[in-house]
Amino acid sequence: MPDSVLPSSDAAQLLKQQLKKIVGSAGYREGDDIDSRNYRDNMGDRSCVPVILLRPANTQEVSAILKLCHQAKQPVAPQGGMTGLVSAAAPLDGEISLSFERMKKVVEVDRFTSTMTVEAGVELQTIQETADSSDMLFPLDLGARGSCTIGGNISTNAGGNRVIRYGMTRDLVVGVEAVLADGTIIDGLHKLRKNNTGYDLKQLFIGSEGTLGLITKAVIKLSPKPSSQVVAFCAVKDFDGVANLLVHMQTKLGSNLSAFEVIWNNTYELIDEYVPSVSIPMAKDHQFYALIESMGSNPETDKEQFLEVLNEATELGLIEDAVLGDSQSHIDKLWAIRDAAAEIFSAIRNMHAYDVSLNVGDMGYFGEQVEKDLRLKWPEAIIGLFGHIGDGNIHILVHVGADTRKLHREIDEVIYSLIRDLKGSISAEHGIGIMKKEFLAYSKSESEIALMKALKHAMDPEGILNPGRIF
Ligand code: ZN
Repeated sequence: MPDSVLPSSDAAQLLKQQLKKIVGSAGYREGDDIDSRNYRDNMGDRSCVPVILLRPANTQEVSAILKLCHQAKQPVAPQGGMTGLVSAAAPLDGEISLSFERMKKVVEVDRFTSTMTVEAGVELQTIQETADSSDMLFPLDLGARGSCTIGGNISTNAGGNRVIRYGMTRDLVVGVEAVLADGTIIDGLHKLRKNNTGYDLKQLFIGSEGTLGLITKAVIKLSPKPSSQVVAFCAVKDFDGVANLLVHMQTKLGSNLSAFEVIWNNTYELIDEYVPSVSIPMAKDHQFYALIESMGSNPETDKEQFLEVLNEATELGLIEDAVLGDSQSHIDKLWAIRDAAAEIFSAIRNMHAYDVSLNVGDMGYFGEQVEKDLRLKWPEAIIGLFGHIGDGNIHILVHVGADTRKLHREIDEVIYSLIRDLKGSISAEHGIGIMKKEFLAYSKSESEIALMKALKHAMDPEGILNPGRIF
């Protein structure tokens, strides 16, 4: 990690003046003028006032900033909507923060190529609404949609609720414009679906958490807007039943299956107790609850087909109880139960949240074992599991008392050891940031980490871009 020259030397004063000249007074904040939302991310694990907050208005300004900082060996921490969960976007001591909050233009919607071109600071919800008004769908969807930005979504390869059908953010990006650490602009902003011209350079910037370059614009992929939507909320007896229900739905619904979300009994109880805005639709004595969604383009037949497939599942003994949502308000209510699982995190103080992935066949065992292992150390622990089971992704909420945050390294060790033994991933969709970097080797081999470090060194030889994140 390079030493920062800020905040007091003469060189630092000169650097500040030069940076201010690049972005103008509208793009420059210092000291008390920096809003507290620029101090920390959603996990809130770490909080730090950036020495300066730069808010460039365009790619050329980003390029000029990085060129200067590269020469001065000044570390820079990029910021999007600050909704991350791995403590990456909160600055470290001495870092300049670079926010994309003034780069919010939707440049173009192109119906012929089914793409949208956007600046990095556009909020996800704006993109969803813009696509919708053009009768298209941008399928990426996550709880933070109102504040997260597309630049953050892409640089962390965000997942969310509809990965089962449309893939991760990586699968939704056609072209990227990014700025390297030394200020070089890499213009990969094309709309070509097929482009086999050697290395796919955009992939270097997708999911690399701002450590290899800063994404300034992107061309993203739109899909046809589905014209039917049906949701069922189902109770399931055991995890074997959940896995078999998933296979049944995948086989029978094919590409219409757009979500398969599962809530463990422990989380269902917590929702009932801690999220009063949500009323649970069925008894609490089932082991698992699955939210299953079908989206298609034949409103007349899609609902019928969905009901038929659900009935078959009930006859096969895979479903114990079910509630159907076929009007928008009822569908929203059922989704609110799933979204409430994430709200428990803020409803109970001193909660820690985990994001891991596993083979679906190992998840039942994992759920039981992780609870046993945690209770060995903390018999009174509050534990909740839920996740995007269609994608092999589980979220775990853990509370072991007022000291949960202080003890989180110990909790990490319990959970990540089990993940390592099952050859899962310590991060399914949240990234590594600072919080998970000690455990990177649990999910990546020595040679993989060596190659990652070689790439970092080649692209950012002074180590100024988001230093100390990932490794
Ligand atoms: Zn998630």
